[in-house]
Amino acid sequence: MRASRLLVTVAIVIGSLGLTGGDSQRPQPARYDVLISHGTVIDGSGARPVRADVAIKDGRIVAVGSLPITTAADVIDATGLMVAPGFIDVHTHADDIADTPRAENFVRMGVTSVVAGNCGGSALDIGDALTKIRQAGIAINYATLIGHNTVRRAVMGTANRDPTISELAKMKSLVWRAMADGAVGFSTGLQYVPGTYAKFAEILELARVAGNAGGLYASHMRNEGTELEAAVQETIHVGEMTMCRVQISHLKVDSPNNWGASARALSLIETARKRGIDVQADQYAYTAASSSLGIRFPAWVLEGGQDAIATRLNDRNQWVNIKSEMRDLLSARGLSDLSFAVVASYRPDPSLNGLSMKQVAVRLSGSDSADAQFDTAKAMMLAGGASMVYHLMSEDDVNRIMRHPQVGIASDSSVLTMGDGVPHPRGYGNNARVLGEYVRNRHLIPIEEAVRKMTSLPAEHFKFDRRGLVKAGYAGDLTLFDANAVADAATFEKPHAFAAGIPYVLVNGVVVVRKGEQTAALPGQVLKSSPPK
Ligand SMILES: [Zn+2]
Repeated sequence: MRASRLLVTVAIVIGSLGLTGGDSQRPQPARYDVLISHGTVIDGSGARPVRADVAIKDGRIVAVGSLPITTAADVIDATGLMVAPGFIDVHTHADDIADTPRAENFVRMGVTSVVAGNCGGSALDIGDALTKIRQAGIAINYATLIGHNTVRRAVMGTANRDPTISELAKMKSLVWRAMADGAVGFSTGLQYVPGTYAKFAEILELARVAGNAGGLYASHMRNEGTELEAAVQETIHVGEMTMCRVQISHLKVDSPNNWGASARALSLIETARKRGIDVQADQYAYTAASSSLGIRFPAWVLEGGQDAIATRLNDRNQWVNIKSEMRDLLSARGLSDLSFAVVASYRPDPSLNGLSMKQVAVRLSGSDSADAQFDTAKAMMLAGGASMVYHLMSEDDVNRIMRHPQVGIASDSSVLTMGDGVPHPRGYGNNARVLGEYVRNRHLIPIEEAVRKMTSLPAEHFKFDRRGLVKAGYAGDLTLFDANAVADAATFEKPHAFAAGIPYVLVNGVVVVRKGEQTAALPGQVLKSSPPK
């Protein structure tokens, strides 16, 4: 019974490949490029894991099932391993991947595709950037959004005002150009300069250009804490007015006095979806964020270049006002000083990396008062600023957001270089942390649901053609992990550590991680959204 069914399966597979043996009564074993045998497939759809072999030829999955009577150039024994679609990380800052094409921090946590150009920051000339990436060759697949901050800065610098009609027209033409050159959508970073100076109408006009070209709207919203609900509503409203698909980036509640607001944010998303607006979100699995030091200063202080910022900070009277605004911004969130802020990378003095602003203030001024911390932040801004890790979220909000079926998993990371700075550990550990900590240790969501959030959910929303499932005809992007061992090793103190328990990763049918080591292969492709059907 079992044997005859196997024979039928093999015959169908061979027929579909157009390989017929000399004797039509006796099918010959098919020859594949890669056969992953004896694994347990989690196909990415949310379906329960099943025992199955997976065969790949010419970069694509060609058969999934019981395939013992086959040969392959490369047979990977996946006994004891889960075979999942490669993870798709739609919120990254991997814009400089051409400089570090192996992208090992992503690859080693099972990521096979990234979307860059997030939070309003991207290359301005998308065509040129994609050409450079194709020429460099990359280990993983890459897509990019066009960033609002990039476009606005190119047209109006960091001016704190509305665009003129001709400036808006210029910005629209830049977005249009980027979409024509292969961007998959438009991103905003409305907490950053100069995006923070833009009003709703400007965002709407530019998002509409992307939407008309089939693009998605991804937003690092105007507020992620005290005004979270209003920010979610603004983002959804863009989708409602433009018919763009909407991606709320790194959904979180970053103000202690508004912890719990994730419930209302998620219900706004659900209500919008019922109205026909295709809105989703993504998150990383940590209770700390990562951003610039500048974000702690009032937005008006950051207008103009470094000289303009220095003039304001060095003016004694202005500094008194700035400091009191900084204090107000913190107290609005239920905070009184900068002890939640840890230096990730401060180029003028790397010995400060890893210290909280409280510790830095003690080191530099001998005082740990809030006042000393603000003065320290000012000195660091005058020296060019720093990148920071901000411990501002609650585990309850992270859990609630993760349980929601329309929230994907994304790292918000750049391409990292081993040993360089003290970045947020999500860049090495995010996907592994979800599978190890949130699935295995805490039983927060089932394993097949976690995999769906990393694969088919983002693939469908970003319209990546035939990616995100372990299914015949789909791209040969696969991540093999040990469900009992997968874990993040990167910590806030020691972030430069690859994830564990992910021994094999394939990109477009090519092995990029074998037995836990990254190969030299660069099989990644530039991805575009498939046109609307
Ligand atoms: Zn962001």
